[in-house]
Amino acid sequence: MSGTLLIKNGHLIDPANGIDATADLWIRDGKVAAVGNYNGTADEEIDASGKIVCPGLIDMHVHLREPGQEWKEDIESGSRAAVAGGVTSICCMPNTGPHIDHAGIALQIIARARQVNLCNVHPIGAVTKNLDGKELTEMRELSRSGCVAFSDDGMPIWHAGVMRKALEYASSFDFLVIQHAEEKELTAGGAINEGWISTQLGVSGMPVEGEDSMIARDIMLTRRADARYHVAHISSKGGVDMVRKARAEGLKVTTEAAPHHFALTEEEVLGYNVDAKMSPPLRTEEDRLAVIEGLRDGTIDVIATDHAPHHEDDKRCGLSCAAFGIVGLETMLPVSLDLVRAGVLSMSDLIAKMTCNPAQLLDLHAGVLSEGAEADVTIFDPDATWTVDREAMVSKGKNTPWHGKQMTGQVTHTLKAGRIVFAEGEVRG
Ligand SMILES: [Zn+2]
Repeated sequence: MSGTLLIKNGHLIDPANGIDATADLWIRDGKVAAVGNYNGTADEEIDASGKIVCPGLIDMHVHLREPGQEWKEDIESGSRAAVAGGVTSICCMPNTGPHIDHAGIALQIIARARQVNLCNVHPIGAVTKNLDGKELTEMRELSRSGCVAFSDDGMPIWHAGVMRKALEYASSFDFLVIQHAEEKELTAGGAINEGWISTQLGVSGMPVEGEDSMIARDIMLTRRADARYHVAHISSKGGVDMVRKARAEGLKVTTEAAPHHFALTEEEVLGYNVDAKMSPPLRTEEDRLAVIEGLRDGTIDVIATDHAPHHEDDKRCGLSCAAFGIVGLETMLPVSLDLVRAGVLSMSDLIAKMTCNPAQLLDLHAGVLSEGAEADVTIFDPDATWTVDREAMVSKGKNTPWHGKQMTGQVTHTLKAGRIVFAEGEVRG
């Protein structure tokens, strides 16, 4: 974008720079020109009175489904859903078809995302070829091709020996290894959290030990390898406690929480609700409160959605056979704002978990509004209310547990490099 854009009268929150005040934001030629006073005139203005202006949100856990399953989502529809949710940078997981286990696919995704040109798309490379947990990928080559971290997400890196090698190799290049922590021998055949609800519904459960045992194993391997290890979508009290202890010990262990794991419990699946089925599953109130405490005390640095769009055919077949996953990009912000309304986090701390914290973890040039930075900006009204309508969602995936629910907090504008890509409820371009 060339020219000058002024976002005026907004409540500017830029956690990385410690800014939390009413201030104007000036953008020139796609970059942040100034915060506050600026000696110039604006070609275009946005009045952000009563709204919060912050760095464009980052979602480090998204399934874009392209290549391979474009009927569920593609790079264009996923990018459109992102900016509709105020998200300007996404990391996409490697469980596509083919997998992101070689450089060509990573380059193809980046090229397609640039063509779509709505948000920044950063691939996450596979740790093992075909995500089968056996043979390591060429991680260095994937990194050179633009992969910002490594994971077999969708699948765990299940083999302890392979995980050890992956952590040791990653450690020598300071790569981040992201684990979908699930011991499949414990969770096989399970659809929801194992407990009284799975018993009541007569549906096979996934015991919480499936998640906890793999986190415990991985922390031991991380200690030995001195690697950077990140637990994806943490959902259990045991997991949060282990990550807290590992960090206190000085290990380079980090984690993220998905909005559904701090907003919902396993009770959501009562009535055989397939749109409340994901992996890891919604767990107990005790687990939910532990995830909230982890967010509050900083054990959990990042909020990420695990946006997992599916076609209706993959979902409407009963709780046991329905695909795992829900969409999340368009509800990430309002659901997370509940943490501020409940007094768990300040607005600035919440925004940090969706901007500068993931940027720092992944070494992305994003998530801040410093002078000269790319002007990726999200503007939202924290008090505006709206009702989730699955049919009105921008994503191709309509699998949301929040259909018909009222949300408080609405994105009004999303800017990528100073260009308005979402405004007045419409994706532009
Ligand atoms: Zn996962």
